[in-house]
Amino acid sequence: MARRRTDPAITWAKGLERRRPGLMDDVLAGLQALYGTPRWKPRLDPISELVTTILSQNTSDVNAARAFDALRARYADWSAVERAPVRQLASTIKSGGLADQKAPRIKAALKATRSKTGDYDLSFLKELPPLEARDWLTAIPGIGPKTASIVMLFCFGVPLMPVDTHVERVSKRIGLLPPKASLNFAHDAWLHLVEPARMYEAHVALIRHGRGHCDALRPQCDTCPLRARCRFVNRRAP
Ligand code: SF4
Repeated sequence: MARRRTDPAITWAKGLERRRPGLMDDVLAGLQALYGTPRWKPRLDPISELVTTILSQNTSDVNAARAFDALRARYADWSAVERAPVRQLASTIKSGGLADQKAPRIKAALKATRSKTGDYDLSFLKELPPLEARDWLTAIPGIGPKTASIVMLFCFGVPLMPVDTHVERVSKRIGLLPPKASLNFAHDAWLHLVEPARMYEAHVALIRHGRGHCDALRPQCDTCPLRARCRFVNRRAP
């Protein structure tokens, strides 16, 4: 009989709990002390969230919002965006940067959605198992696990962790992820690190922490409530 392959993300999460019991609970408690308990509430409609997230790749939220506003001002509806010449669309969203890459991604995302649903309605995704939904989104050219997870978490409250630069840095410093973990591994590992009901809270708090205490260049470890369990401060932290 063929042996079933073990999932490295599950192996990592189980090993971490064995070697450093209660780490995730302590991290969440420390983050809660700083930021309270962020509560999920839906933001944009799903197709707008997907397009905005594509626009926000490698740029600031401000530039992405500017590009989104320009797109909505120029085109009457999503059908018009999908049918727009790619160069015209790129010129419309140029304030978001990397427009030549983002324009075909947006068109591909709209085409995939319309082909699937006959409309631009992504609500079918919330009926799928989370990883199946993520796979459907990441099959669209230019959409990776972070973008897919943002749509699923923020639009539907589905517990997938978007691993952005802040989540990745803070997680690796504490030791929740191996120092050289790839982004794909990080996305999979997070599915097993935290209970699903606390995924949103963990995501929002880690981003706040990465923008505040756990700054890339000047982390304020002296006043950080996670200090006692952080491997950046102490390589042998429990
Ligand atoms: S102790 Fe320092 S490195 Fe560790 S999470 Fe806190 S700020 Fe970041």
